[in-house]
Amino acid sequence: MLFRQLLDHESSTYTYLIAAGIGDEAVIIDPVKKNIAQYMMLIQQFDLKLVAAIDTHLHADHISALGDLSSQLGCDIIMGEQTQAQGVDRRLKDNDQFHFGGLSLRAIHTPGHTDDSYCFVMPDRVFTGDTLFIRGTGRTDFQHGSASDQYDSLFNRLLTLPDDTLVYPGHDYNGMTVSTIGEEKKFNPRLQVDSREDYIVLMNNLKLSPPKMMDIAVPANKNCGR
Ligand code: FE
Repeated sequence: MLFRQLLDHESSTYTYLIAAGIGDEAVIIDPVKKNIAQYMMLIQQFDLKLVAAIDTHLHADHISALGDLSSQLGCDIIMGEQTQAQGVDRRLKDNDQFHFGGLSLRAIHTPGHTDDSYCFVMPDRVFTGDTLFIRGTGRTDFQHGSASDQYDSLFNRLLTLPDDTLVYPGHDYNGMTVSTIGEEKKFNPRLQVDSREDYIVLMNNLKLSPPKMMDIAVPANKNCGR
């Protein structure tokens, strides 16, 4: 498999470019608008046909490249069916499969960080968006977030994947790149709670400041970053 994990330094966002191999159909997950030249370079160098650009949710901390990639390469824009974004070509629902170039992604609806949050599962790995981070979880205090919903998304969905499933998050603020479900079950401090109530108390007492770009990013991303 051709797999590239790309970092946006400013927002600590990870973007993933995935294809079976050189010359094949590809998808990109959570691309950042200002890094589009880098994506175009890799797509060209690997002779990829980008068939879809996917956002795991409506981002508040960076402007999405979905619209620009679609305009320039003609790929489909994919998000979850709950999204408020306009101009989405395909709206996935829970358990939908997306096939491309001999690979496939299974969408799982994992509300909590936002109500439109999805994770994408491949046989050996999962793209966890802002639902599960390495030793953390996505905040639940805006954009229809819900700590209670996130508890279900984590404990009843993501953590039921095999322990050796690789975890590729939507962000990392500490220089970590990859983990596993088993490792997070054991060492993620947010996952050491005894009950839903404990998780809600934990998440409701984080006292985080709003993302710097929220007032610009959310309206832009409702139009796929165009
Ligand atoms: Fe987010």
